[in-house]
Amino acid sequence: MATSAELHARRMDAVPRGIGHATLIYAKRAKNAEIWSEDGKRYIDFGAGIAVVNTGHQHPRIVEAVKRQLEDFSHVCFQVTPHENYVALAERLNAVAPISGPAKTMLASTGAEAVENAVKVARIYTGRPGIISFSGGFHGRTHMGMALTGKAVPYKKGFGPFPADIYNVAFPNLYHGTSSGESIKALKALFKYQADPSTIAGIIIEPVQGEGGFNIAPFDFLDALRALCDEHGIVLIADEIQTGFARTGKLFALEHAGIKADVVTLAKGLAGGLPLSAIVGRADIMDASGPGGLGGTYAGNPVACAAAHTVLDIIEDEDLCARSNAIGAIIMGRCRELAERSNLNCIGDVRGLGAMCAVEFVKDVKSGEPAPELTAAVLKAGNERGLILLSCGTYGNVIRFLPPLTASDEIVKEGMDIFEASLTEAVSKLQ
Ligand code: PMP
Repeated sequence: MATSAELHARRMDAVPRGIGHATLIYAKRAKNAEIWSEDGKRYIDFGAGIAVVNTGHQHPRIVEAVKRQLEDFSHVCFQVTPHENYVALAERLNAVAPISGPAKTMLASTGAEAVENAVKVARIYTGRPGIISFSGGFHGRTHMGMALTGKAVPYKKGFGPFPADIYNVAFPNLYHGTSSGESIKALKALFKYQADPSTIAGIIIEPVQGEGGFNIAPFDFLDALRALCDEHGIVLIADEIQTGFARTGKLFALEHAGIKADVVTLAKGLAGGLPLSAIVGRADIMDASGPGGLGGTYAGNPVACAAAHTVLDIIEDEDLCARSNAIGAIIMGRCRELAERSNLNCIGDVRGLGAMCAVEFVKDVKSGEPAPELTAAVLKAGNERGLILLSCGTYGNVIRFLPPLTASDEIVKEGMDIFEASLTEAVSKLQ
């Protein structure tokens, strides 16, 4: 049996270094909120494959649904011989997505592909080229995804040129000094100085920024954005790829703000680990393209659709929105306790919605200067002690907590005990 270290040496020879690695743990087996490595070591998984397995690893009902579908057919291509579970999934997503009025859904395979298609439908519907996104936002690694993404290194630098007519505005983030009012002012300035609103097809925003640091868009800002889009006939695109499927304590994060988008992009948690994404939008927008303008060979893969139906059933049957809030309360409670400890003096902010929680590490609370070294040391200590954690944030100084929503209180508490021990160890080592 190869060890993780041996596999990593092979990986470095065989796989480009541009594909980063958050850990050196090579997975052998996973169950619910635990992963066992090739070395036989057990880990608590607070990453969930980057917010994908909200329903846990190997949920028996998903495994069963996938097996059943595999026995019938695994691929036919929806554009050639359509299948019911695509249509039925579209019907279900149309009914629950935060879209006003009749909705339609197209399926794709990845988050980036969902973003690409959201931009396509916004452009063809409005007949306009411009798209506005926000600083710190992340929308994928395709060319349009990179263009929309608001972080230069490592996502954009050297990969240009990017598609034209993309504009970026400061995300409202009070902790980092930008209020909702200032962001709205920046948008209005953009309309004056750079692009008349009549040339803007869409504005894309994550209701809670994922890779950007779990920054929660203030609800008054989302309201103002909705009003601005209505005033100028701009398509409001909510990127719920990381926030969707009960992660924030509601099925979709926009529900917290009580506003509706015109188009929503979904992926990650949608199919519990199978590659599937969705673009749900107002029917008139989704129907703007003629036949053949949208689609893809693998888009809406039948096995992934079968998994997605089961994910939606599990979220309802196991009340995963309530579990998300309960798990979030445990994590946030522990993080707030740690933030109070004056001997640590390194937690600048604790924030979250449901079980999408994060802590922001600083050199000291007074200066608020980002502490990426401490963040990396906590992740490493966590790995050594049996906990998988992920970082995020513009300055690489945020740790995000993304356990499966099916995790028990006991396992979440055990994970938080390991986090606390890892933090204490990292602080004492760096002092
Ligand atoms: N949008 C958001 C908000 C994301 O978090 C991600 C993935 N981290 C993407 C888009 C891109 O998704 P994918 O990696 O599946 O292409």
